[in-house]
Amino acid sequence: MDYPCDIGHAQEIARLVFPLMTRLNIPMNPINYALWYEFHLGRAEELVAALEKIESGKEIYDPVRAKALFMRYVATPGVDVLEKIEAEFCRLLGDIIQIVLDAGLDLNNYSAVLDSCSTRLESADDIRDIRKVVRTILADTRARSESNSNIRGALKDRADEVDKLRAELDQVRKEAVKDPLTSLSNRRAFDERLADSLDDTLQQLKNICLLMIDIDQFKAINDNHGHQIGDKVLQFVASVLKKNFKGKDLVARFGGDEFAVIIENAPRAGVKSVAETIRQQVDESNLKRTDTGQPLGDVTVSIGYDCIRPGDSPGEVLKRADKALFEAKQRGRNRVIAYEDQDRSRRN
Ligand code: GH3
Ligand code: MG
Repeated sequence: MDYPCDIGHAQEIARLVFPLMTRLNIPMNPINYALWYEFHLGRAEELVAALEKIESGKEIYDPVRAKALFMRYVATPGVDVLEKIEAEFCRLLGDIIQIVLDAGLDLNNYSAVLDSCSTRLESADDIRDIRKVVRTILADTRARSESNSNIRGALKDRADEVDKLRAELDQVRKEAVKDPLTSLSNRRAFDERLADSLDDTLQQLKNICLLMIDIDQFKAINDNHGHQIGDKVLQFVASVLKKNFKGKDLVARFGGDEFAVIIENAPRAGVKSVAETIRQQVDESNLKRTDTGQPLGDVTVSIGYDCIRPGDSPGEVLKRADKALFEAKQRGRNRVIAYEDQDRSRRN
């Protein structure tokens, strides 16, 4: 699980968690603290339901159950699953090599492919690397099973197993690149996509534009209404962004109250118009607290954007979109600014 690195937010939750754990007589160890911290964040419905039973006295605290809940809802998702999947791939590779050797056919090339996959798998350090290896194994195993009737059945079974593991791997990867609060892509997914898009652009002359969106005076929303309402506002802005993009565009929570969108193959005028639509939809939202009906006051966003230029690195286009965002803040917030609309003096 990711946690906001915001001292005020963490302190606010600590003030709620300490007395509660004291009242319930729960040992304040790291596992229990993380569980009750997560309880207050309220992101995992099943965890909240399980802890509510303890909070209301319907169930008593049990350290074994606490550890199980911790492993399920708090520990970094996917790490143990990933290890299991890697072990399965290694076993399947071994099987496939054995089938090939038993067939005693002229399969030198194929063995070389599998050997190299095996080495790459051992040195793979993230899910992307593993997926690439899996794609190679799958394509090659399928091709062999079609071309050689002696080993067709055995290889097909293994290829099906590899395929199943690939689906599990995709699921783990999806979770690893998602922001838990807003369900948007997270910063990691954004960085990967921007780098990939720029690589593709070199080959296919695609036009890529980058929007940076930041909520105006968000600190004041937290200060006036509390972090939980602040979180709802983050979710609301995320929903406005989601509504306005589809297909290949990537919408991400960049960090804190900042969002970023990678738009592929849109004309510059289209980018300006979608940015303006987002600004307007947030400006006209008139959000109210659901508990008291009290209006939240002005919730607005500032947006900066630019499109890639020949020879750009991800850092360069990001810097220009960020400068445009800074300019939007400088000019009074609640506005959209393109990098080229900035004051010349601030451009470089
Ligand atoms: P500006 O118009 O210049 O952007 O002003 P601002 O107040 O929005 O600027 P700043 O970047 O200083 O404030 C962002 C705040 O977002 C600070 C931090 O307390 C809050 N924040 C960061 N992450 C979270 C989160 O996950 N939830 C909530 N509720 N607040 C968060
Ligand atoms: Mg802000």
